[in-house]
Amino acid sequence: MSTNASIVWLRDDLRVSDNPALTAAVERGGPVVVVYLLEEQSPDARPLGGASRWWLHGSLTALAADLAALGGTLTLRRGAPEAVIPALVSETGADAVFWNRRYGAMREVDAALKSRLTDEGVVVASFAGSLLFEPWRITSGSGDPYKVFTPFWRACLASGDPRPPLPAPTAIDGLAVGGDELDDWTLLPTRPDWAEGLRATWTPGSTGAHERLEHFIEHGLPLYHRRDEPGVEATSRLSPHLRFGELSPHEVWARVHQSIAAEAAANRAKFLSEIGWREFSYAILFARPDLGRQNFRREFDAFPWGQPDAGQLEAWRHGQTGIPIVDAGMRELWATGYMHNRVRMIVASFLTKNLLVDWRTGEEWFWDTLVDADEASNAASWQWVAGSGADAAPYFRIFNPVLQAEKFDPRGVYVNRWVPEAGTPGYPEPIVDLKASRAEALAAYEAVKAAKA
Ligand SMILES: Cc1cc2nc3c(=O)[nH]c(=O)nc-3n(C[C@H](O)[C@H](O)[C@H](O)COP(=O)(O)OP(=O)(O)OC[C@H]3O[C@@H](n4cnc5c(N)ncnc54)[C@H](O)[C@@H]3O)c2cc1C
Repeated sequence: MSTNASIVWLRDDLRVSDNPALTAAVERGGPVVVVYLLEEQSPDARPLGGASRWWLHGSLTALAADLAALGGTLTLRRGAPEAVIPALVSETGADAVFWNRRYGAMREVDAALKSRLTDEGVVVASFAGSLLFEPWRITSGSGDPYKVFTPFWRACLASGDPRPPLPAPTAIDGLAVGGDELDDWTLLPTRPDWAEGLRATWTPGSTGAHERLEHFIEHGLPLYHRRDEPGVEATSRLSPHLRFGELSPHEVWARVHQSIAAEAAANRAKFLSEIGWREFSYAILFARPDLGRQNFRREFDAFPWGQPDAGQLEAWRHGQTGIPIVDAGMRELWATGYMHNRVRMIVASFLTKNLLVDWRTGEEWFWDTLVDADEASNAASWQWVAGSGADAAPYFRIFNPVLQAEKFDPRGVYVNRWVPEAGTPGYPEPIVDLKASRAEALAAYEAVKAAKA
């Protein structure tokens, strides 16, 4: 039975506007089945962390409403795509399946599915929806992927402007098929309900994403030259919205280029280059799908990471290290699912260099607690700080968290917000001697260098 129906399989692109896969299905004509899979049963899928599960619940709720307003329905299914998508094809008689591409380990699953369905006579098409520049198009003169950000971004910008964003379809001929109830996925925490701070901070979904973008254009972008100061609201906080694809980088790009005063050109270029770091992280992940587990620079395999001291690790996780800027960051993360970029670098440096803990332990904690936890940016950034990544900070550049706080939070606005008891007798002594641990980290690094030589 063929119904001329098309299936749109949404993944990290939970939006109706600028969604090339959805637009292609609608333009093809015929009924459209829009499906989202909880892929945890796929052996290649990394289960989402707690904060991401919370976000996903809100994002799917918003997406279902956005689809319904256009006549569509969101179908929820659970399981491995190689089983669920072909079953949905037979069940609905669909003869086409569309999706927007992904770039990590799961792309192998997608490629296998595409060839299997194509062999069975189903039209399968994948689209560029999540990145401005497809990684395989941006290569160095020798044809290899770039390992350094600046020439990568220069090559991206020289490759031509990204396409303009697509409007949302005006109507969807939705085909409703049975599926799971979202509540049955139990994505929200219950006992205990730790999500109060997340609810107070965020509005998952495309409407919340676009509101945040507008707020940033008006209030944040003019201050973007102060983006390194965690006490100033100068950055966009779009990262979780981009992570779940509630708005696309194309929409951000186009909006930022509209109605911007000429004197803001430097802030705009800097902001877009941060979007460029997201692209770069994905390009690295594309080249190394195991980026979350393996050192990009394999010489770091010999690095003598210490056995994490359980007490020190707990103190780091919960913001009780006795170093105020580190504790402020870790408490912001725990309370809101977010941490300012400069402070992410400081806490990551503290864990990997002052406590000599393997970056993977920190990456996992961020994976569980960040609402923007992202398989490319999280792994690439942890490796950047640890020194094991592409275009990484040199290992010997060890942040001194006390000097960092003096430089970027000179009046203590950020620290006072999260650690009001700093400087009082109720506040713990530092769990580590910054000077001695720095020397120990440098000695460990020398050992890696010597092993390589
Ligand atoms: C140890 C560590 C872990 C990180 N983990 C993540 C993560 O899991 N997910 C994530 O999205 N970002 C991660 N980052 C990058 C960065 O901290 C966040 O993207 C940024 O803080 C988000 O805030 P914003 O949206 O206000 O940023 P803005 O300054 O407004 O930047 C705009 C957008 O550009 C992208 N971006 C900005 N900086 C970076 C960067 N250094 N690398 C990659 N993309 C960037 C984000 O999508 C961001 O929303 C990590 C950084 C570090 C040091």
